[in-house]
Amino acid sequence: MRIRWWLPVTAVTALAAVAGALLALSVIRRVDGADGVRPGSAGTPAVVTRDDASGLDRSTSDAVGGPEGQENGPQTGQRGSGDRLGAQDGSENVAEPLPASDVWPLPESCREAEISVWAPSGTPRARSALSGEDLPGADQLADYQIEGDRLLAADTGRRTSREPTDCAERLWSAIRALYPPAGRRLLTHLVIYDGSRAQASEDRDVAAFVRPIDEGLGEWLLAVDPAFGEPADLAETLVHELAHLLTLNGGQVDTRGPDRPTCPTEPTSQGCSLPGSIYDDYVHQAWDPAVLRRWWELYERTDGEPDQEELAAFHEEYREHFVSPYAASDPEEDLAETLAAWCTGRRVSGEPILAKVDFLARRAELAQLPQRCRVLH
Ligand SMILES: [Zn+2]
Repeated sequence: MRIRWWLPVTAVTALAAVAGALLALSVIRRVDGADGVRPGSAGTPAVVTRDDASGLDRSTSDAVGGPEGQENGPQTGQRGSGDRLGAQDGSENVAEPLPASDVWPLPESCREAEISVWAPSGTPRARSALSGEDLPGADQLADYQIEGDRLLAADTGRRTSREPTDCAERLWSAIRALYPPAGRRLLTHLVIYDGSRAQASEDRDVAAFVRPIDEGLGEWLLAVDPAFGEPADLAETLVHELAHLLTLNGGQVDTRGPDRPTCPTEPTSQGCSLPGSIYDDYVHQAWDPAVLRRWWELYERTDGEPDQEELAAFHEEYREHFVSPYAASDPEEDLAETLAAWCTGRRVSGEPILAKVDFLARRAELAQLPQRCRVLH
């Protein structure tokens, strides 16, 4: 999920903490999704107990935010390594010809009321492949399955099967143009919701999120409110979610399960990052160790749930380290926010931020992303 700040001229909304889990900042809008809760640390910043680092379960629960979250938990088996983002050389991202750049912005139909209900938890009450439960509002979601490059009406057994709308097709075209194969093939479901029909106003701030739907972190759902913000905001949001996909999938995160007591690497919301993974290297190479230490202190002191004021104070203290206030909420969000700013060409400045951007630009598997982001210009 992604939270970002409202512009000062826009309506200010305090993002209510979603089921006590989503990190929330005042005057923010939230955009992405795998966030959930960061594993708690015990002792040193890089080592956490697996109990605390409930990763998938807690993240899923938190992202869904309500009891129904348990229904939506991972339930399918792991996919083979072939489905993982294992390649570190970036060759796959480089190989595919870049698509035509006529996919952005989205059509006006995307600003009209789509069909969906935004659950108070902050997550659409999707069921699709996530759950066999007939959750309230599930039949009002635009929920599509992704097969190869095609968007299909999800076979969820609901009363009506919805063929992809023009908006859905256009959004999917944009995603296909923007996301490299390594990220795109992780997507198995696309959910479109209309945040303006939120059942709780604060949930309007969630513009998009991703969430794994299998334990191997090889199949993911991307949910988007295509009417959110201006085209540039939505563009950054889609890139932000891509960053989560590229860094939290089964090729980047250890999925061996809760029997592993500690993380020898940097923990993520989905489990321990793998040695040499983008996230582990980013946190340990691009973050100022002192700032990282302070963030962990904040996290531990608040039992993993720093409130808005504490996060805002942290951001204020280290403002020059973050491309946005939301980036300061969590290293995972920082990576996504920084990658989105870098990819879309947003002007950034300051030594600490430029060091992070430089790290991303040097990663072979990410190096081609700015070319793809051109489709959003
Ligand atoms: Zn995020």
